[in-house]
Amino acid sequence: MNIILFGPPGAGKGTQAEKIVEGFSLVHISTGDILRDAVRSGSELGKVARQYMERGELVPDEVMVGIVRQRVAELNSSKGFILDGFPRTIAQARALDRMLGGEGMELDAVVSLEVRDEEILARIKNRQKMEGRRDDSVEVAENRLAVYREQTEPLKDYYRSRGLLREIDGVGEIDEVFQRIEVALGSVSG
Ligand code: AMP
Repeated sequence: MNIILFGPPGAGKGTQAEKIVEGFSLVHISTGDILRDAVRSGSELGKVARQYMERGELVPDEVMVGIVRQRVAELNSSKGFILDGFPRTIAQARALDRMLGGEGMELDAVVSLEVRDEEILARIKNRQKMEGRRDDSVEVAENRLAVYREQTEPLKDYYRSRGLLREIDGVGEIDEVFQRIEVALGSVSG
């Protein structure tokens, strides 16, 4: 089973991705993790990515597509994958379609975690206090949310029209939300 996970920043995407990876034994491709590793290592990619991440902006499509292309080429077909945080723009989604087509792979489902802005902002403020995450200052968080609504949310229509979209209520306990995802993915073949 090959799936995409997306949802607004602060919706619990990372936590749910880990549970899905374990529950469905998938290969995890998290573009946020890849970029944070690059920033930590001080690589050229990290230097470029950091400037965008600090402002809550998206890293340019060509950079992201290059990263994901490499990871997708490394996949072997015995295990499915979960793409966590990619695609985030229509251009990325189109590039992904071409990549997967080239490798003879297909998407089986797109899971969208649904959480309203007010709830997200409350969570982000709380998380910022707990973790002190660099990209989570409130202003940056608001920008990330605006970027999500403008650039990433339109992807729902892109995948809905292909019958792949599974919208999941992202409000509730971690296990409760995961159960909803399991139910939604239970009917997916692959
Ligand atoms: P995440 O952990 O998925 O929220 O990603 C953290 C940050 O990394 C985002 O706010 C973006 O700046 C950057 N990023 C991650 N994935 C992408 C992507 N697919 N396209 C552009 N920027 C990304």
